[in-house]
Amino acid sequence: MLKPYKPAWMTEDLVQFNDSVRRFSKEYLEPNDIKWRQEKMASRDAWRKAGELGIILPDVPDTYGGSGGTPAHAAVVFWELGYSGNSGLALGLNHIVGHYILNCGTEEQKQRWLPGIASGEIVAAIAMTEPGTGSDLQAVRTRAERRGDSYVINGAKTFITNGQLCDVVIVVAKTDPALGAKGISLIIVDTNTPGFQRGKVLEKLGMEGQDTSEMFFDDCTVPADCLLGGHEGRGFYQLMEQLPFERAQLAIQASGAMTRALDLTVDYVKERHAFGKPLIDFQNTRFVLADVKATVTATRAFTDMVVQQWIDGTLDPVTASMAKFWCTERQCEVIDRCLQLFGGYGYMKEYPIARLYADARVQRIYGGANEIQRELVGRQL
Ligand SMILES: Cc1cc2nc3c(=O)[nH]c(=O)nc-3n(C[C@H](O)[C@H](O)[C@H](O)COP(=O)(O)OP(=O)(O)OC[C@H]3O[C@@H](n4cnc5c(N)ncnc54)[C@H](O)[C@@H]3O)c2cc1C
Repeated sequence: MLKPYKPAWMTEDLVQFNDSVRRFSKEYLEPNDIKWRQEKMASRDAWRKAGELGIILPDVPDTYGGSGGTPAHAAVVFWELGYSGNSGLALGLNHIVGHYILNCGTEEQKQRWLPGIASGEIVAAIAMTEPGTGSDLQAVRTRAERRGDSYVINGAKTFITNGQLCDVVIVVAKTDPALGAKGISLIIVDTNTPGFQRGKVLEKLGMEGQDTSEMFFDDCTVPADCLLGGHEGRGFYQLMEQLPFERAQLAIQASGAMTRALDLTVDYVKERHAFGKPLIDFQNTRFVLADVKATVTATRAFTDMVVQQWIDGTLDPVTASMAKFWCTERQCEVIDRCLQLFGGYGYMKEYPIARLYADARVQRIYGGANEIQRELVGRQL
């Protein structure tokens, strides 16, 4: 028998925290998964429940309403979210936005937004992608023009997670189009501001429980102190600084999701019979699962290294990019091979393996397409 696995960074305190997140996931996220997919978003109540449990900003100081933990607490949440197979509650997004504000924001911005984000009262989004550009962030066309004490924002964004529910959105905009990357700024927009408009929820291949949407800014005028960190032209630098953490998060979720696929498949092949014996008794089944187990184990080891570096404050952008592209690609391979062992049932959305399969595909695209990650890694060699 394989020994139960516990990474070196997982202290006793974290084991308990992990148990409570797993319970929340089993008792609340999993039973609501199909409902949220049908409704194309999770309920507000789900956000509040996650806030009560302290899992939205687990690694933000309690002085800002967070749970005062470390990146290890965040890693536990992301891994369990991946394992849950629930696509509805996009906690990762609130975590990302929370950390932009924590690490780049002014004291006033932290006080204003972080407690509400941590409690689940405020749902957050980040709007980088536009209809005309995603990978090439320097080509964004959304304009934030300084007029007196305000910024007037005009432009359109698409594929924005939490697009319908969000109360606040960090917008990537050009404050000076002549300056290239140095002309990009991040603006914190309260979605009650006149001129902000939500488009429709987009129909997706997977992740149907997330309200991925278009959004429009039509002379949307916000006070100048909504500029993240208070410095114009720092947006590209702030993005480059924070994106590695988003990439680490996606790699950790990939590890959770593929472990779930393996667990579901092991159970299934023991129950399902063909030609008078359980599927596990075919050598092919055992060989596939042996390959999958090895890949799941290697992925976990890689992401544990990333988590350790995150905890130590040494996580570099190249390692985060490697983890993002490598783990999400292993996620897709593993889930595909597991699904095959379910036969036709693996194609039925009623079965979690089918939903894991559909949800996995986007992991190679968002958070920076995997080709972009390879560029970032290759450039350093
Ligand atoms: C479900 C979902 C949720 C999302 N959530 C958000 C969100 O919350 N906020 C947000 O801002 N965005 C979000 N996105 C957008 C996502 O980040 C972009 O789709 C992604 O960055 C790719 O941009 P693009 O779609 O414009 O593709 P493009 O930039 O047009 O690229 C298309 C393809 O071209 C290739 N390619 C591009 N550039 C290069 C290169 N330099 N070298 C080699 N190949 C290249 C890659 O294969 C890439 O996949 C989301 C997307 C999805 C599908």
